[in-house]
Amino acid sequence: MTVASVPASAALPPLALRTRAIGGSPVRDILAVTARPEVINFAGGLPAPELFDREAVAAAFRHVLEQTPGRALQYATTEGEPALRAWLARRTTARGLPTDADDLLVTTGSQQALSLLATALLDPGDTVLVEDPCYLAALQVFGLAGARVVAVPGDADGPDPQALAELVVRERPKLLYTVPTFQNPTGRTLPADRRAALASVAARHGLWIVEDDPYGELRYEGERLPWIAAHPEARDRTVLLGSFSKVMAPGLRLGWLRAPAELRRACAVAKQAADLHTPTVNQLAAARYLADNDLDAHVVRVAAVYRERRDAMLAGLPGALPEGSVWNRPEGGMFLWARLPETYDTTTLLARVVREDVAYVPGAPFHAGEPDRSTLRLCFVTQTPEEIAEGLRRLGRGLKGE
Ligand code: PMP
Repeated sequence: MTVASVPASAALPPLALRTRAIGGSPVRDILAVTARPEVINFAGGLPAPELFDREAVAAAFRHVLEQTPGRALQYATTEGEPALRAWLARRTTARGLPTDADDLLVTTGSQQALSLLATALLDPGDTVLVEDPCYLAALQVFGLAGARVVAVPGDADGPDPQALAELVVRERPKLLYTVPTFQNPTGRTLPADRRAALASVAARHGLWIVEDDPYGELRYEGERLPWIAAHPEARDRTVLLGSFSKVMAPGLRLGWLRAPAELRRACAVAKQAADLHTPTVNQLAAARYLADNDLDAHVVRVAAVYRERRDAMLAGLPGALPEGSVWNRPEGGMFLWARLPETYDTTTLLARVVREDVAYVPGAPFHAGEPDRSTLRLCFVTQTPEEIAEGLRRLGRGLKGE
């Protein structure tokens, strides 16, 4: 008997168009090497692990697994655990936005909230307005949804309401995505008058606003500003996103969205299709943690440490960045944004800088429109002040090319 030769295999059908449009990223490839322990990584955007409330989080998990294992390990409702939603509703109400537990959908990180909103609101070809620069993974979500993404011009305070009004008339977008407080990547905060102006543009022209607020609780100075969602004109059209990632721990993957009923129901259907529900044990453990501990007191402790780290970075930058560079002084959050003189291209410089065992994220990929190639994002919360000082010395050497 002869063995039949293996027939030549036919080419497989291609990936979906939406994934082909995303492609690879040279910056991602370079940053992959920053996982080496000797690298001082200002690129990551990682909360400081030594500040996680480990013992109390472990106690909360132990409690729910010992006391209510049948529930903690079981399937649960898509909307989220009642105790967690009730706590979130009370807290949101206390911060000036009256909210019922039913107004909220628990999500697997606020990143999932973005995906659910894209599924619920966007058809391919729809237009989305974003900040310039914009949170990178939001650009990815909108790109994967097949949306046309248009950047709203702005300045050091954030998007310009007048420019927004013109774009809304010209582009007929479905939604504006914004991180008004301690934005990723810039660390900037949208002033109160602009929040009101954005709310009124949305009201006048018919526009959803997605207000993403994972960093708002991490304030080191200045006064808390009202959410756009709390402006009466925008209440029926603003979706507010929150997250425990920066105030408790990102590994829990716990976020939430507050949205008007019809949109929230559509998001719940999308979530059913995505993951049925956010892990029950994590939700119950978080609710237990919140019942037994004072999250605000924990955030105050974290903020005091982060503030010192921000100050360490601000102190070291003049010696590290080339003459003519400018940067901001964020009042909170995790990031600051720097612009080097025009002749510097932070994307091409990254490989040289990483050889000095330090890393940043170049600014270009954060721009939906024309990239500014001389900008970069630095995360100031992950390292100690001493490590930050050393990292900035290395950055200085890398940028000078000595
Ligand atoms: N939105 C913004 C602006 C972020 O910076 C991040 C995290 N880097 C997220 C959403 C996602 O956060 P998570 O899914 O951990 O809640």
